[in-house]
Amino acid sequence: IPPDKVNEKSYSRESAPMSGNQSKKKTDHITGEEERIFCQRCYNLLYHNKVVTEEWQESLTSDRLFLSFLKKKDAVVVTVVDIFDFPGTLLKGLDDLIGVENPTILVANKMDLLPKDVNETRIKNWLKVNSEKHGFRNIHDIFLISAKKNWRVQELAQAISTIRSGFDDVYLIGCANVGKSELINSFLRSTVVGGWKYEVTSSPIPGTTVGMLGLPLKIFGSTFGHNPKGFHFPQGSRYIYDTPGIVNGKQLIHLLTEEELKMVVPQKNIKPRTYNMFPGKSLFLGGLGRIDYVDGDKPVRMTVFSRLKPHITSIRRADEICQSMAVGDKTFLEPPTFSIKRTLPFPPMIKSKRGYVLKGVPGTMSSKDVVFSGIGWASFGGTFNQASIDIWSPNGIGIYIRDKSL
Ligand code: GDP
Repeated sequence: IPPDKVNEKSYSRESAPMSGNQSKKKTDHITGEEERIFCQRCYNLLYHNKVVTEEWQESLTSDRLFLSFLKKKDAVVVTVVDIFDFPGTLLKGLDDLIGVENPTILVANKMDLLPKDVNETRIKNWLKVNSEKHGFRNIHDIFLISAKKNWRVQELAQAISTIRSGFDDVYLIGCANVGKSELINSFLRSTVVGGWKYEVTSSPIPGTTVGMLGLPLKIFGSTFGHNPKGFHFPQGSRYIYDTPGIVNGKQLIHLLTEEELKMVVPQKNIKPRTYNMFPGKSLFLGGLGRIDYVDGDKPVRMTVFSRLKPHITSIRRADEICQSMAVGDKTFLEPPTFSIKRTLPFPPMIKSKRGYVLKGVPGTMSSKDVVFSGIGWASFGGTFNQASIDIWSPNGIGIYIRDKSL
């Protein structure tokens, strides 16, 4: 961290720009509940390190506002989302939050997890439409990358160089775990010559990037003179900042322990599994997602994209399983892993307040996705006219309906 920049970070509670009462509140369109967004560090302290007081919980709600300092900066903003968890990892109302004066690039990371034959133009259009729906219109360009595999990272670096006109800082922003640190590492791998090594912590456990990390921006040009003993920070240089991630309280992965995350987070591209579902049937993704096909005129074809293998049963049996989970009895559905000791009890499976009616266009294929944030999604197809579904998740959080399938 360049010494003169250390105090610029404004994400701590003491320096949060607004109080909790002034925070802009967003409402989840499915559950009708307010979306709570935390600074990654606070969330981890709260849920994984046993610091729990109600007063303190209340004070965390406005932490996403630390990003509003970007309104006053001349900067290029690179917003990173996880393509596997979209729109769960999109910061909602971004135009309001960071302003629309600065050029903003949307980067969809972890493309290596999608099936190989995806149509990239279609995904870009789809990202644009869905981002706009969630209050993010100021999109200068969209990149589909894999930071881990270094896919399209050089092209992204080139685009950033071109639009920053040589004098603006660059800020990477995004939810925890979308791959911001991995992206910086990938920039370094792709652009720094001569075997010079610098690693930014990247971890499967959300909550490890806790500071604002600045790296000199000349890595985007040809003039970066590297120094084997460490970075050199000349007065007046410009930087790329890795901001601490923001935890969206609706992301299901944040309920999980490290052990459970390993069961859920895909390591390689997902192989879709397709099922013919009849009315009265229910499909589980571990104990983290459940879709009931309550009523409809025909079977629906459900294609599931998840590391977790789906379990299909009757709705009646599914209710029994959820009741057992709610009273803390062991079930065969994992995660949550029964034997893990937790600070707070694992939230019970709850049906989203709103039932959902999917309408097919008679005689043609219908296509909608039900997304469980970070866990996967089910894409609906078939020639049904109408299908009523109920969707369940722990505490009813992390559920999204996408208009068009990837
Ligand atoms: P940050 O919290 O946004 O800084 O996220 P990290 O860089 O720490 O990455 C979070 C997790 O996502 C780690 O397990 C990374 O290995 C993984 N990850 C990051 N980029 C990619 C990618 O392009 N593909 C895949 N499959 N995993 C990635």
